[in-house]
Amino acid sequence: MTADFSLAGQVALVTGASSGLGRAFAGFLADAGAKVVLGARRADKCADAAAEIGENAAPAALDVTDPDSIEAALDAAEKAFGTVTILINNAGTVTNRALVDTPAAEWRQVIDTNLTGCFLMTQAVAKRMIAAGTDGRIVNISSMLGTTPTGQVHAYSASKAGVNQVTRTSALELARHGISVNAIAPGYIRTDLNTDFLDGPAGERIVKRVAQRRFGQLADLEGLLLLLTSPAGGYMTGEIVTIDGGLSL
Ligand code: NAD
Repeated sequence: MTADFSLAGQVALVTGASSGLGRAFAGFLADAGAKVVLGARRADKCADAAAEIGENAAPAALDVTDPDSIEAALDAAEKAFGTVTILINNAGTVTNRALVDTPAAEWRQVIDTNLTGCFLMTQAVAKRMIAAGTDGRIVNISSMLGTTPTGQVHAYSASKAGVNQVTRTSALELARHGISVNAIAPGYIRTDLNTDFLDGPAGERIVKRVAQRRFGQLADLEGLLLLLTSPAGGYMTGEIVTIDGGLSL
């Protein structure tokens, strides 16, 4: 194999790394040789996860909606391992409610976390990459729901559609600085939080619409994550790649 998937010498920051996809992404990146900072509001959970990964991982308290918290987390990351060269914008939240029952505050909170958080993180990390003169990789965790409409997830779907366009616009603007920006748009991926739901009656209905007739596993995302963060994927930017077993077909 001539393709280079190594992340040796890279410093990755994963947002929302205290659970689910973010926790798994941190492990994948560390296994590929990166030093990894796990950021989330629950710093204690990040500390446990970082300890599990080992000496190449460090925790950071991080609220992606708060610019001061973002700057403090980036300072902590630089102190631990140096300038962040890989950013995984994974932090996210979802609410399920009919359009007519969705309070404006709930809409704003989802948009603030998923979309504005992605923008604020991208801006802060890109500024530091440019100042340090380093190339960089940014991977936004979008969702199949950013393009495929479904009921009861209005703010979430709108936020992920916004993440898709932030991916394209920031890719266009940051390419001249050697920074690529791509997105992964997963379908239903099994995590500790959703496994009861996916194994229940709703999951039984949904899985019949998945062409491959199964939900995704965390490991199904590893290959694409490594492609988008390693030299092997160096000529890709502005792409939104769906991994959903054919659900959106
Ligand atoms: P999760 O709830 O386990 O993880 C979300 C993480 O984001 C948590 O660690 C949470 O603490 C963190 N977070 C929330 N608000 C934050 C904030 N303001 N600042 C910092 N961290 C914050 O859920 P997950 O399923 O692992 O989701 C991770 C990402 O993947 C989300 O962006 C989600 O939209 C996306 N996604 C998940 C699936 C799936 O099937 N699990 C499918 C498509 C997309």
